[in-house]
Amino acid sequence: MPKYLLFLISMSCSYSTSAQTKYLHCGNLIDSKSKKVQKEMTVITKDKIIEQVVKGYIDPEHDDVEVFDLKSKTVMPGLMDMHVHIEHESNKKRYEEGFRMNEADVALKAISYCTKTLMAGFTTVRDLGGTGVNVSLGNAIAKGHINGPRIYTAEKSLATTGGHADPSNGLRADLMGDPGPKEGVINGPEDAFKAVRQRYKNGADCIKITATGGVLSVAKDGSGPQFSQEEVNAVVQAAKEYGFTTAAHAHGAEGMKRAVLAGITSIEHGTKMTEEVMELMIKKGTYYVPTIAAGKFVAEKAKIKGFYPDVVVPKALEIGPKIQETFGKAYKKGVKIAFGTDSGVSPHGDNAKEFIFMHEAGMPVIEAILSATISPAEMLKIDDKLGTIEAGKLADIIAVEGDPLENVELMLNVNFVMKEGVVYKNN
Ligand SMILES: [Zn+2]
Repeated sequence: MPKYLLFLISMSCSYSTSAQTKYLHCGNLIDSKSKKVQKEMTVITKDKIIEQVVKGYIDPEHDDVEVFDLKSKTVMPGLMDMHVHIEHESNKKRYEEGFRMNEADVALKAISYCTKTLMAGFTTVRDLGGTGVNVSLGNAIAKGHINGPRIYTAEKSLATTGGHADPSNGLRADLMGDPGPKEGVINGPEDAFKAVRQRYKNGADCIKITATGGVLSVAKDGSGPQFSQEEVNAVVQAAKEYGFTTAAHAHGAEGMKRAVLAGITSIEHGTKMTEEVMELMIKKGTYYVPTIAAGKFVAEKAKIKGFYPDVVVPKALEIGPKIQETFGKAYKKGVKIAFGTDSGVSPHGDNAKEFIFMHEAGMPVIEAILSATISPAEMLKIDDKLGTIEAGKLADIIAVEGDPLENVELMLNVNFVMKEGVVYKNN
């Protein structure tokens, strides 16, 4: 390959290699080990790893070391969004894209979603459902072919027949077919095992179920339970056997309750969560991933005629606006929170708006930052390598201008992004 091509490729991928030692001079440092902000600190990274965190602005002894001046900024661990759909983004033609786009089209379009997410400071995401292209995108990012966050993906969400994420909902009868476990549709515990095993075979990292109806599916009900207790139990049991964590999309309380009783790792959206469900979640250690951004987005777009199919509109108007209030109650009650936006419903790259919505609902900014760093790392059981800024962990580090604890909107302005020791953004 000609040298200039190699140069162009390396320029398009990042601003630095990970091999160098780097010194970051941090005006404010939130390490996510504690709720404290530390002033005037130096973080030293070598290769992919954080080597040292030291007090004061330390200068390197050798001149082959890169020094980054982040003295006017607040530095924190790479952010983690526990609910995205990296393959797609909402638009008026979203419902016909499935008929017109091949997998390669989906993948090529999604490259920009991956880049936008990383540039917004999100170095890790959990992708909760797509077609399987999500697995390929995660692999391409891990191998350095494209820029993006580290992706933990559920591959295809599991639904029951006619349920939220049955891929044939709303189709003409002769196109509908009868999707089964291979396609992520189950009926009964045996199917549940087969569907989980199929996800394992397809390269998934976690399992997602649609425990209740959902807003954007072409179906009437948005809240009722759609898995029996036996079916959820079987999914969770099968997932555990493969070392998968699990997530349950849920708007109504009954579906939520069944998922929590089964030992699900997280409840997504949680719109109509009752006090009883909150207490059960606290008892079982279940995480709540609120996705307030998605609720607000669908409620707003449902007012635009023709943006969503007619059957979706009343569900979006009813369910969307409720999530923020539920989040406020659950947080105050002491339910464990992990940050998540449902980006793909709302635009990719706008993930940090969720911080503003969480803060509006009564969560201090520092808690919101912890919910997007250490909390998801613990939830995904990757806190041995991610979630905090401390020696020995992967060098996923971002910075925003000024002090976001004083002004939460500064979280929208991420101007330094490092992932595994490589700097992707430095404004
Ligand atoms: Zn979702």
